[in-house]
Amino acid sequence: MKPLVAGNWKMNGVAASVAELDAMIAGHDAASRAVVDLAICPPAVLIAAFAPRSGPIAIGGQDCHAKVSGAHTGDIAAEQLKDAGATMVIVGHSERRTDHGETDEIVRAKAEAAQRAGLVAIVCVGETEAERKSGRALYVVGTQVDGSMPASATAESLVVAYEPVWAIGTGLVPTAADVAEVHGFIRAKLVALYGPVGESVRILYGGSVKPSNAKELLSVKNVNGALVGGASLKATDFLAIAAAY
Ligand code: 13P
Repeated sequence: MKPLVAGNWKMNGVAASVAELDAMIAGHDAASRAVVDLAICPPAVLIAAFAPRSGPIAIGGQDCHAKVSGAHTGDIAAEQLKDAGATMVIVGHSERRTDHGETDEIVRAKAEAAQRAGLVAIVCVGETEAERKSGRALYVVGTQVDGSMPASATAESLVVAYEPVWAIGTGLVPTAADVAEVHGFIRAKLVALYGPVGESVRILYGGSVKPSNAKELLSVKNVNGALVGGASLKATDFLAIAAAY
């Protein structure tokens, strides 16, 4: 399965940041394209400017509303992201779950909206520090997978991202053994949910992925790529992570 390294710019970037995208495009040469898919999820206001020039790098949103249209001030429909040129969208990021009270049920509806619009849904799950310390990481991730995944999936329409909340933006990362345990657990859940298709859904690791730790994290079994925050803002870092493949 071809890995995916996706950058989540969060609330960072302005129109001039297109220079970083252009440097990423230039660096994602034929040899790189042959071995890894790259995507950048900029703030929604930049999607329409980024998408037409992004060539080999897919452009995605960071969230979508579950409905097609309507009275939802400030929200963006999956169909609108698609219209702006996005081909994927992150849903259920822990920052959305925490800052905006998104439940598994809401995340599932958003993932299904993404598929309805023809976007790849990148569905995020992950435990907090307290949950890991109390030995409940697998239980929490399992509950999120059971509750947040869309009713149906193909290898192309769904990507899962395991992002331990305590590893996001902290410089802390789980051990390779812990990553292997959670990714193997998610893989088994996906096979239980979707049958053989579950074997080919990509499972990304996210949380403090950097050029210095990418090789170790990305070589773990059932890790099929990365969801990168801070280190995706600079082309040099992002390309160095992709070069782990
Ligand atoms: P960092 O790579 O900055 O830790 O962020 C990870 C993340 O939340 C990506 O969605």
